Amino acid sequence: MSLRKSKALIFELSKPGRCALDLPSSDVPEAAELIPAQFLRTELAALPEVSQLDLMRHYTGLSERNFGVDSGFYPLGSCTMKYNPKINEDACRLPGFALIHPLQDSETVQGALALLHGMEQYLAEIAGMDAVTMQPVAGAHGELTGLKLIRAYHRHQGQNRTKVIVPDSAHGTNPATATVCGLNIVEIKSHPDGAVDLEALKAAVGDDTAALMLTNPSTLGLFEKNIKEIAKIVHDAGGLLYYDGANANAIMGLTRPGDMGFDVVHFNLHKTFSTPHGGGGPGSGPIGVKQALIPFLPTPVIVKENGEFRLDENRPLSIGKVHSFYGNFGVIVRAYAYIRAMGPDGLKTSSEDAVLNANYCLSQLKADFYAPFDRFCMHECIITSKKQKDYGIRTLDIAKRLLDYGYHPPTIYFPLIVEEAMMIEPTETESKETLDGFIEVMRRIAQEAKDDATLITAAPRTTVVGRLDEAAAARKPVVKWKG
Ligand SMILES: *Cc1c(COP(=O)(O)O)cnc(C)c1O
Repeated sequence: MSLRKSKALIFELSKPGRCALDLPSSDVPEAAELIPAQFLRTELAALPEVSQLDLMRHYTGLSERNFGVDSGFYPLGSCTMKYNPKINEDACRLPGFALIHPLQDSETVQGALALLHGMEQYLAEIAGMDAVTMQPVAGAHGELTGLKLIRAYHRHQGQNRTKVIVPDSAHGTNPATATVCGLNIVEIKSHPDGAVDLEALKAAVGDDTAALMLTNPSTLGLFEKNIKEIAKIVHDAGGLLYYDGANANAIMGLTRPGDMGFDVVHFNLHKTFSTPHGGGGPGSGPIGVKQALIPFLPTPVIVKENGEFRLDENRPLSIGKVHSFYGNFGVIVRAYAYIRAMGPDGLKTSSEDAVLNANYCLSQLKADFYAPFDRFCMHECIITSKKQKDYGIRTLDIAKRLLDYGYHPPTIYFPLIVEEAMMIEPTETESKETLDGFIEVMRRIAQEAKDDATLITAAPRTTVVGRLDEAAAARKPVVKWKG
């Protein structure tokens, strides 16, 4: 570790004249002659000059500083950091998928269209919806597309409904999306038991309600038992229900948003359907809709006629395109391979195992950490650092100490309504041994809090950099080499 710490920057290794490439001399005319002189660079870019071996060590060193689900346990709640089977990578790199172009005639890409169309049908079945569009490329993008559809639907009915009801436990993207969509947010408080407060909901709905946005299970990892009644309250007021499907890993094959009464749902293929994520993309956030919203779906819509797939642009009520072409195709191929490999029974078993793993963690940790909702949870559970408070330990300290033990911390300080929250989502892909290892480390940290709290407050000690000023790192990032 200390060796890695002292590693020189690639710029510091640079020696004039060294080169990592050994290319044969060019046997085609220099393109420079074709480029007008005023566009040509006179000074060379200040790139480091290093040997191929130094270059290799540089990138290998950087990769070792990274942490991913392939390097260790990654229980980042709400993010579903499950293992991404490597066969999916092979599938999306098949030349027939990887080397086609979105502007090709549809007759020449029937296989790709069949895959997109098949994926729409699988997701419609999993969600209990009537149609799906694969265009949105993130969960938040699916939310935006879904709210635009809801808006278009109400407008088509001659109604100007502008309010979106969002519980205070919602993921930040929900209110953000509603705002970007030009709608106004009505926040409703959760009941102390974590559920939607039905009285608060009844008071909030009206003839200006466009939609309620909800995830079930909620961000507290709890299943909303009153969902049928919630749906009735919103529908009776003329509003629609939007399902944030980021927590779908808890429910696959067990229940469906469409059956609960939702009208629109997004999926995060990069969470539930096991495609790599982190660092901002690429992702995929397809949305499913009920019959009444189909006319408004983004174009083009893939239709099957006489055994041939075709792209239908002629949709007068469509909200238009929300992304270039058809979404993040490579991500969709990975998720398709995953669904095909798992099958309906496999998907159901994953959800059951995800729920089992979260309940196991909760049951094993609640003696040492405060569990604000000490009852059956779904695919993730919440504990807090309340019991460590008297030793001067906060949740951030525990997260940093976990790094010393080689674990990625759980999500912290979310959901916002739980003080000092740690949200643990183990996912179904982790073994009991891995969970036991994590639980043991968490117990050890609880003990350290009592014996020597500075071990925790000074953490991390074993990482490449120590504790950062997180606000400064986010607000004033230094991302450039200043030679
Ligand atoms: C991840 C997440 C989102 C947003 O999804 P992105 O793909 O990151 O845009 C929305 N809601 C919840 C509950 C989430 O966990």
